[in-house]
Amino acid sequence: QPIIELTSASKTFGETVAIDGLSLTIRPGELVTVVGPSGCGKSTLFNILAGLEEPDAGSALRFEGRSCHAAELLGRVAFMPQRDLLLPWRNVIDNAILALEIEGQNKKKARAEALKMLPEFGLSGFETKYPNQLSGGMRQRVALMRTFMFKRDLMLLDEPFGALDALTRTMMQRWLLDIWQKHRRTVLFITHDVDEALFLGDRVLVMTARPGRVKLEQPVTLERPRL
Ligand code: ADP
Ligand code: ADP
Repeated sequence: QPIIELTSASKTFGETVAIDGLSLTIRPGELVTVVGPSGCGKSTLFNILAGLEEPDAGSALRFEGRSCHAAELLGRVAFMPQRDLLLPWRNVIDNAILALEIEGQNKKKARAEALKMLPEFGLSGFETKYPNQLSGGMRQRVALMRTFMFKRDLMLLDEPFGALDALTRTMMQRWLLDIWQKHRRTVLFITHDVDEALFLGDRVLVMTARPGRVKLEQPVTLERPRL
């Protein structure tokens, strides 16, 4: 059974059609990438799936088989935006546990769990460092770790490596695949980079921008490249 299903979703802002008749299905454990040029509606899709924006009337959204409003997804989805959003006054561990802490989980327990996860994210020995002492790639790994620690049904990653240089970005893609293969979480990864979408995705959804309208093309199924 799909974890999330969006059918004929549209979103209009005044005269602007941000998305138009978009459908997508995500099954548990998949890593699906969404690729498309700037302005094709990726952020709008992200906002709907993150529960921040309702699609227009006539759109159908289902979560784990039940029809629902986008707002109900707010508590079910963990998301990671393009900028790392680390708090500069908190060290690596305390940034990583932020989401759990806000949720009201025991801080000591969360810290212990984060400490155990550090090696996987290439952050061993950096637990007491502050964001300004880390490279861009390391900061994104802290943000990624925070998103993984927040045990939600669906992870939404919005261009998480977009601001990184090419080499760091390639390394981060491998990190993500390794971590994802270990944890088997359901991930939707949004990017404007076709190579990134093809490399990471079990399936790639291609969004295209046309003057005034946007359409989701048929999903492409690809073999995952062997690492
Ligand atoms: P992408 O993330 O792929 O660049 P967006 O979803 O941000 O695309 O935007 C798709 C279209 O919808 C663009 O033309 C954008 O200007 C418009 N748009 C997005 N959000 C809003 C908004 N809140 N108000 C008005 N127009 C918007
Ligand atoms: P890069 O694109 O190389 O990753 P950024 O544009 O993210 O770099 O960061 C520019 C500068 O801002 C860096 O010197 C970094 O130390 C600082 N910086 C960025 N994000 C944070 C943060 N969350 N907390 C503290 N400092 C930050």
